Amino acid sequence: MTARDDFPGSVKQTLAKRVGFHCSNPACRQGTTGPREEPSGTVNIGVAAHIAAAAEGGPRYDPSMTPEQRRSIANGIWLCQNCAKLIDSDETYHDAEILHQWKSLAEKTATKELQTGRSHDWDAEIFQRLEHLMPELLAEMREDLLDRPLAREFVLLSSKWIYNSRGPYLAYHYENYPDLEDIMVILGNYDLIQEITFNNVKRYVLSEKLVRYLLNE
Ligand SMILES: [Zn+2]
Repeated sequence: MTARDDFPGSVKQTLAKRVGFHCSNPACRQGTTGPREEPSGTVNIGVAAHIAAAAEGGPRYDPSMTPEQRRSIANGIWLCQNCAKLIDSDETYHDAEILHQWKSLAEKTATKELQTGRSHDWDAEIFQRLEHLMPELLAEMREDLLDRPLAREFVLLSSKWIYNSRGPYLAYHYENYPDLEDIMVILGNYDLIQEITFNNVKRYVLSEKLVRYLLNE
């Protein structure tokens, strides 16, 4: 078995406290601790995740680091269990740089929340950012949903393809949005769409959260 440079308990505790026991993924921010039914018990769904893997062969493993660096607080990020799995299953997108950004953002947010006594409105900030990145697509989706408020499935099409686009789904065209697939990745990262492609045509489902935002419900 390869040696693992696990974090000591004190590092895990400090990582959790520095972000107010919330997941550090800005798209998640799930609380990670709460009460168990018995009066003295607590539930913890938080994980002190390694930015560079604890053992050779793991995600983002950096052979130039010493074991001390690998188990130091600088190499840790506090996440919920789901996001801890997510960063390890898609390490191309979740590289060390992104994770350091999440960590510093989560720490800044915890500071701001302590100072103002209010919790930060992440959803508002995320949608503001998306309106900036993809205003035309959101506008088209909004129009479509006003027409068909129950539609959730959509496909990505090129007008060059012969495709029976009269389906129960909405359609968006590559010609109108040169970065359409990149945009889908961003919406997917925020869990606002789910990919359900089953043939050559990219196919997705809108989340209720995105629909409610677009329809201003
Ligand atoms: Zn999370």
